[in-house]
Amino acid sequence: MTSVDDARHQGMRKRLVDALKIKGIRDEEVLAAIGKVPRHVFMESGFLSFAYRDQAFPIGAGQTISQPYTVAFMTELLHVERGCKVLEVGTGSGYQAAVLCEMGARVYTIERQKELYVKARILLPELGYNPAFHYGDGYKGLPTYGPFDRIIVTAGATEVPDDLRRQLVAGGRMVIPVGRDNHQEMVVVIRTGEEEFTTQKHGGFVFVPLLRGVVS
Ligand code: SAH
Repeated sequence: MTSVDDARHQGMRKRLVDALKIKGIRDEEVLAAIGKVPRHVFMESGFLSFAYRDQAFPIGAGQTISQPYTVAFMTELLHVERGCKVLEVGTGSGYQAAVLCEMGARVYTIERQKELYVKARILLPELGYNPAFHYGDGYKGLPTYGPFDRIIVTAGATEVPDDLRRQLVAGGRMVIPVGRDNHQEMVVVIRTGEEEFTTQKHGGFVFVPLLRGVVS
């Protein structure tokens, strides 16, 4: 394994979970998953003291591992159930995908930067998490593998991509930050019928942008 997970890490994780509860995260399944996934393993060694702070952190290739509160908040909004088929757009470090796997979801994750895709595809199975990894442009989703019960987009989009909307099952939910210029609104899209969608807004966040195309 890349890095050990000992009592010290577990203690730091427990304090992070307590901090998330104070900030308003209530879903016990989400809190339990964050209490189990070793976040420090997703960051370069030497940054242990940062791993369990409630902060975003650089993971290379100009990208960041999302702040734990943001991961918890989005996962709570996603209403994940065991066996749910979930598409994640923006694998990044793989941390969010690991949290979803820990909750018993069947996870498909897509990343446009090859370097990050390759890293996550090696790391997650070492931790016992086995989502389906895809390298490509998540704007288009994964049409041949859909439809999905849930879709989570972990980069900021300027609008809800139509291709993603259409890959939700009826009754399915998508959580996606939407906006521009370093400010996004957390949006939940629910497919209520073949051509019907409702949207809810859940406050402001800051994400790296959802970009088109791939980086090799
Ligand atoms: N979920 C990640 C957060 C990563 S930040 C984690 O837990 O660490 C967002 C990621 O989205 C970045 O890695 C970025 O490269 C990726 N991304 C941006 N636009 C994308 C697109 N169109 N398709 C797939 N991935 C994309």
